[in-house]
Amino acid sequence: MSNENTKVALVSGGSRGIGAAVVQRLAQDGWDVGFCYRADEEAARRVEKRAGEYGVRVRAVRADVSNPAEAKEWVLRTEGELGPVGALVANAGITRDRPLALMSDDDWHQVIDTNLDGVFHTCRAAVFPMLKRRTGCVVTLSSVAGVHGNAGQTNYSAAKAGIIGFTKALAKEVGPHGIRANAVAPGLIETDMTGTLPARDRDRLLASVALRRFGTAEEVADLTAFLVSDRASYLTGSVLEVHGGLAL
Ligand code: NDP
Repeated sequence: MSNENTKVALVSGGSRGIGAAVVQRLAQDGWDVGFCYRADEEAARRVEKRAGEYGVRVRAVRADVSNPAEAKEWVLRTEGELGPVGALVANAGITRDRPLALMSDDDWHQVIDTNLDGVFHTCRAAVFPMLKRRTGCVVTLSSVAGVHGNAGQTNYSAAKAGIIGFTKALAKEVGPHGIRANAVAPGLIETDMTGTLPARDRDRLLASVALRRFGTAEEVADLTAFLVSDRASYLTGSVLEVHGGLAL
């Protein structure tokens, strides 16, 4: 059965950056979208309004994915308002970059709690009803740092590598029940997350990108929209890198 039958999607961290572009793109494709955010309500309302202009229902809810109860409540509330969920995009993520020797317990735990535990919490809540309906799909946001590692990001790289293992295991577990799970691993994408990089670092990083530019959130959203669509019906357990030819 098609996961597009229901055309209701959940996106974690939809208020800015890649998540906001995914909300926009899915709305354009005719999905009703429920998304969560952690703090920036104004940004969330802007995304809600803009995506709603496609004539679909869009619901923004404040929920911290690192908190299991809030993640579950967000999923249940959105299902209650919009109907059965056909797709989950587990996108919410943060960075706290520091060389390992200087990394605090807080830097480590905040990144693992949001990026990895957050994926666990949202997927567990969303996949359970999908199993009952024997349809649905999940896209997780990993990173090239999770595939190749990145200096100064041991916390982030560990979380993003964990997401890859999680997604591959999930794909095997739920595939026989008609559910797909794939990971997207972006390279350098122009968002608030990369916006604070000093100009010198940006130039150095760009020299290692074959296309010599940062990617856009929309380019990641396009791939994500493809993965949740029925055009990707034989894709599961895959990690799709979108990095413009980045050589780490
Ligand atoms: P941004 O910092 O631009 O946006 C992050 C989004 O996640 C915001 O909507 C934010 O909400 C939300 N968020 C953060 N923490 C939580 C939380 N605990 N609970 C709920 N929502 C939360 O990030 P990007 O768009 O750049 O990144 C999106 C994903 O893509 C992340 O998983 C990131 O690791 C990954 N990625 C990004 C790359 C890049 O170059 N940008 C490269 C590779 C991977 P609020 O505004 O309310 O804080």
